[in-house]
Amino acid sequence: METQEIGDRIGQAEMVLVGLGEEFDPACAVREDVKFRRGRELLQSRDLNWLLPAWGAYCAHRPETSCGRPAFQKLADMLKGKNYFVVSVSVGEGLGNVFDGGRFVAACGGIERKQCEKGCAGEIWPLDREDSDLLEKLFEKLWEDGILGEELPGLGSCGQCGSPMVLNNVYAGHYDESGYLDDWKRYTKWLQGTVNRRLLLLELGVSMGFPTVIRLPFEKIAAYNQKAFLYRVNEKLCQIPTDLVSKGVGISENAIDWIDRL
Ligand SMILES: [Zn+2]
Repeated sequence: METQEIGDRIGQAEMVLVGLGEEFDPACAVREDVKFRRGRELLQSRDLNWLLPAWGAYCAHRPETSCGRPAFQKLADMLKGKNYFVVSVSVGEGLGNVFDGGRFVAACGGIERKQCEKGCAGEIWPLDREDSDLLEKLFEKLWEDGILGEELPGLGSCGQCGSPMVLNNVYAGHYDESGYLDDWKRYTKWLQGTVNRRLLLLELGVSMGFPTVIRLPFEKIAAYNQKAFLYRVNEKLCQIPTDLVSKGVGISENAIDWIDRL
């Protein structure tokens, strides 16, 4: 019944806005795994938080855990042909290829580009083959033996200040947001076009880590747009504000499980 309902709502919507949250982090999928946790502690003890999303993705793609990414693909298929936009605070999966590139923004960065540790402007580069191999080896050792080599992962150094490069995501000490600004501009422009349109908001697995990116704006949009409807799917935090009860529904379930079930 719910499947029918959500299918109808997507079908009837003129525009669909999707928010992807922390429940989609690969690190979330493997959070109970002993080897993942052991590695996470080691990385944290060495102040390598910017590596955590990449470590999560590595663990989630190990054959032993095989968390994979079918939920993303299913969501993308559901949205096919619709006028949609996906805004994400999830870090760890390259999703630009799953969703149409122009309809996706990863506000918290990712694991496929690097930046200066100190955040020097204009120093954002895609990882090259050497970088990826290096991380792969580092993680393999961390998985198999539970140790981190003495040498920090050398992703090269900043062309301006000579500091080491780190992955370009929100867990870096000086996260350089310019990596996603063009996508963000496209998003805000798309949002302007939602006024007075039948808008469906799918807020999926978004926790309170970065409330100003998805949760609060989605509530505001749902409140202002007369024809909006909000689905808030979350394992722990699915409450809908009282002024939105007639325009939204909260579903207390892990967002990935929810998509799998549809
Ligand atoms: Zn620098």
